Amino acid sequence: MAQNIPVAEIRRIIENIIKGMDVGRTPDYTPQEYKGRKLIGIFSDMNEAIDAAEKGYRAVRDMTVEQREKIISEIRRLILAEADNMAELGVFETGMGKVEHKRLKHILVAEKTPGTEDITSVAKTGDNGLTLIEMAPFGVVGAITPSTNPSETVLCNSIGMIAAGNGVVFNPHPNAICTSNYAVDLVNRASAAAGGPEVLVCSMVKPTMESAAIMQSHPKIKLLVCTGGPGVVKAVLSSGKKAIGAGAGNPPVIVDDTADIRKAGKDIIDGCTFDNNLPCIAEKEVFAFRSIADELISEMQRNGAYLITREQAERLIPVVLKEKTDKSGKTVKTVSRDCVGRDADVLLSKIGINVGKEIRCIICETEFEHDFVQHELMMPILPIVRVDNIEEAIDLAVKAEHGNRHTAHMHSKNIDNLSAFARAVETTIFVKNAPSYAGIGFGGEGHTTFTIAGPTGEGITSAKSFTRQRRCVMADSFRII
Ligand code: NAD
Repeated sequence: MAQNIPVAEIRRIIENIIKGMDVGRTPDYTPQEYKGRKLIGIFSDMNEAIDAAEKGYRAVRDMTVEQREKIISEIRRLILAEADNMAELGVFETGMGKVEHKRLKHILVAEKTPGTEDITSVAKTGDNGLTLIEMAPFGVVGAITPSTNPSETVLCNSIGMIAAGNGVVFNPHPNAICTSNYAVDLVNRASAAAGGPEVLVCSMVKPTMESAAIMQSHPKIKLLVCTGGPGVVKAVLSSGKKAIGAGAGNPPVIVDDTADIRKAGKDIIDGCTFDNNLPCIAEKEVFAFRSIADELISEMQRNGAYLITREQAERLIPVVLKEKTDKSGKTVKTVSRDCVGRDADVLLSKIGINVGKEIRCIICETEFEHDFVQHELMMPILPIVRVDNIEEAIDLAVKAEHGNRHTAHMHSKNIDNLSAFARAVETTIFVKNAPSYAGIGFGGEGHTTFTIAGPTGEGITSAKSFTRQRRCVMADSFRII
């Protein structure tokens, strides 16, 4: 039987075994324990978790802003100290992504997630006195987090939500529960070390759809924040509570004939392969002007891309997309969880192509209708569609984005083309002439987030997204001029 297993797959299995031996890790973590140490803030019952998070919220309410900031500084310090650990744990538990890239994502969270400075008050004065507008916490936030950036999302959400003065209960993705709960424990350790409550944020031993449903309908939960695919965002937005929805994307890239093709080829492959394409902002399909497409493809190949034929791409479709019947009896294709976030060589080995680890992306030429263009694959496979002009490029790219209004990218020096695409696609993030991750502050200006709320409009969420406005009016007094 052994001769039927592709070489790359055998290599991957051996690497995982060695990695497990190196860190002495294999079974010594659970959703409640890490190397024999009990994780703090992890509950078996969602109602108990919510009660504990409410106590955390009450404690934060009694703190000064300076005390809150102390806890946040300690969270940042621990993230930097434990970034390697969480990156390894995330890859090990989920089988997805790349350790080095997950490490960089944690550092980004520690360094570029805004804290209490993000919350600002407004004073209005006039003939009728002084009105003060302050941004208050909601109370206890119920947060649903994905498997693709598990600890990154828990930590980024925690910093913003605590800065805003909230308590938090998480219902993390079941496939990343140990990694997510490690991050919950880190926040609680930071809180205790900085003089805050022992349990500030909470999570579940075994999060389920049922525990998510309890959270969504619990009277103590005042705000829901959901980071995930379309199903879960829809469920949360139908809850009847105030909700922030950060949903799916399918970011298109346009490359026109004025672009620096050498840079575009490198930037696109760097962005597309970052954490094996798990970030929702990562490049998912390319629309290239016919006149520069060959050059773009060879630049991509120079940067670790492997070009497969149309026939090989057809064989890869049933490997990465599985057919299933939806509730209405229609056959639909969904991404294979065994392929999401996997290395390019592992995916290629599944169709009998054996390459080394230097190959980090699979590229192929396709038509617009191709499954690789239409589905959000979240793996290093990048389809390239040739187009004749900017009108065709924009038309197809907007259609491929499916109205998610999430993220789009463009490589061009023509400001009319750049402006036309940005206006047409209406995405929350639009990155020009850079890898996708510049859009979340990695090599680009601006703060970071792992919860990009397109559907509900908060955008690149930060502490102020988790606040509610309150007004205090003093009529006819307190004006000093
Ligand atoms: P997913 O959608 O499979 O699951 C997210 C979480 O929701 C999990 O905890 C899951 O158990 C839970 N869940 C699913 N359906 C639910 C329901 N009906 N009610 C309650 N809970 C439910 O997430 P994933 O596969 O880990 O993440 C990938 C998806 O998330 C992609 O579509 C990606 O684009 C998107 N995403 C978006 C952002 C953003 O900021 N906009 C960030 C990360 C991921």
